[in-house]
Amino acid sequence: MKITNELVVEKAKKIGFDLVGFAHAGELQEETNRLEQWLRKKYQAGMRYMERNIDKRKDVSLILPEAKSVISLAVNYYTNHSYSNQKGKGKVSRYAWGKDYHFLIWEMLEKLETELRKIDSSFKSKSYVDTGPVMDKAWAVKAGLGWMGKHTNIINRNYGSWFFIASIITNYEFGYSTTIPDFCGSCTACIDACPTDAIVSEYVVDSNKCISYLTIENKNDIPDDFIGKFDGWLFGCDICQDVCPWNKKFSVVSHFPEFNPINNNKEIDLNEVLNMDTKQFKQKFSESPVLRTKLKGLKRNAEFLLKGKSDAADNIEQSN
Ligand code: SF4
Ligand code: SF4
Repeated sequence: MKITNELVVEKAKKIGFDLVGFAHAGELQEETNRLEQWLRKKYQAGMRYMERNIDKRKDVSLILPEAKSVISLAVNYYTNHSYSNQKGKGKVSRYAWGKDYHFLIWEMLEKLETELRKIDSSFKSKSYVDTGPVMDKAWAVKAGLGWMGKHTNIINRNYGSWFFIASIITNYEFGYSTTIPDFCGSCTACIDACPTDAIVSEYVVDSNKCISYLTIENKNDIPDDFIGKFDGWLFGCDICQDVCPWNKKFSVVSHFPEFNPINNNKEIDLNEVLNMDTKQFKQKFSESPVLRTKLKGLKRNAEFLLKGKSDAADNIEQSN
């Protein structure tokens, strides 16, 4: 039996994916040019892995030689909770409130690929969730899941931008999806709201200035230039997505309860972090993406936020 677009969509939705689209697996020439330009400007900061495997990022047939299509899939993770903004607490980015999405989506991908192979044993595939040399966002745009917003996240008209993206490279040919035009229009809300001016121009983020990078991937100290500019973010930052009108109007609650905050992890007491030992850290964040910074990184972030507070207090004292 032949695997059709309709069959993939039906199976994927049954497994829990919210969006599915199909793109021809041609070379990503323009996207690679933009990536190389971004790298030349050193906007990747310490993410050296972004410099590697450019050839594979451009041409997925170097990953799967028989590649004909890329199936792009999205999982909505929006849950309806807000921050208390209590003094002494640090905010965690929405994507990291619940269970680490990698585990969930890897399982879903495996299930989908197995089901498709059962229908036609000649179906070959390789799948990724932001862990391999695959430009998930570029494929999501090509597969019509949405457009890239000026903050560089993908936006869908029915979901906003709170979703994870996965890609399946396959030897199968499909009917290909129509791309969605850019609906950012004249809006600049994300650029205006970014407290560190990390969106250096429309569709370009300098990671050296981005709170998400500085608090998660960054292995070094956070430069003092950013003291007082983090707006209470301890792990990641959602400001540019929070202010986006598409998220304000169209966010839909995820059908995965796993993305609700575990142990109230949307905000964390900074002193609790500073006094935490490795065992407590691993226990509190056992299934969470927060593990990624390791305890050392989380303590650095907490100290940095408190540094901002004490400097602000010093300034008030001095001005009195
Ligand atoms: S995540 Fe935060 S710091 Fe990074 S671009 Fe968006 S608003 Fe700016
Ligand atoms: S805030 Fe405005 S400019 Fe930024 S991504 Fe959303 S719609 Fe586009």
